[in-house]
Amino acid sequence: MSDTNQLIRYSIITEKNPREIVLLRGNGCKWRRCRFCDYHLDFNLNSQLNYQLNAQVLKKVTGQFQQLEVINSGSFSDLDTDTMKLIKDICVQKHIKYLYFECHWMDRHHILPLKEKLKTSGISLQIKGGVETFDKEYRETVFCKGIDTDRPQELAKYYDQVCLLFGITGQTQNSMENDLKTGLKYFNRVCVNLMTENSTAIKPDKQVLSIFMDTIYPKYSENPKVEILLNNTDFGVGGKNE
Ligand code: SF4
Repeated sequence: MSDTNQLIRYSIITEKNPREIVLLRGNGCKWRRCRFCDYHLDFNLNSQLNYQLNAQVLKKVTGQFQQLEVINSGSFSDLDTDTMKLIKDICVQKHIKYLYFECHWMDRHHILPLKEKLKTSGISLQIKGGVETFDKEYRETVFCKGIDTDRPQELAKYYDQVCLLFGITGQTQNSMENDLKTGLKYFNRVCVNLMTENSTAIKPDKQVLSIFMDTIYPKYSENPKVEILLNNTDFGVGGKNE
């Protein structure tokens, strides 16, 4: 991810869980150590510039599905306070009932207070956590994700949904199936991202990807609780404007 100014930042997801989605910009992921990620390069330390950009993007939100997903590199707590207020105001004005945010484990203490606060405005906050795998040893040695628990029950105290990352050397049919089953057991929804080539040293493993496509994809592709992103721009945001 080199030039983030040209990114597509608004889109509509029409399948499985229809919603609008926006890619906003904050002051940056505070973890920044996940070895597979170059998404954290989308940040700016100037909160006024971020707000200007975010306000332009949020203008496009119509509320047509009563659901809005907001993503930014890192956690929602990396967004400036004016942007946060604008998101809440738009949800109220456009009758958006479900708001989805992402949050890194290190910022989890922000989740419950915000859920309580938004509930008073009739907004249900749903948090997506990038857990990537429930195998703690693999997650922390290979991905360096920064999640210090191996208990899905503990993760489920904060996260309503999880993202999993598949297609990397060392993963197997069993490990991927176990991750999916655990995800579906403890969380409302699971979003599977398949590793694609980016500027990091972690590369997609073609063999693992074809095991996924041959054995797991057919079983879960129609599952309404499982979203599968074959490319990380499949939700329509994050790609470049032509
Ligand atoms: S927490 Fe998210 S944005 Fe930050 S380094 Fe990890 S994957 Fe990237």
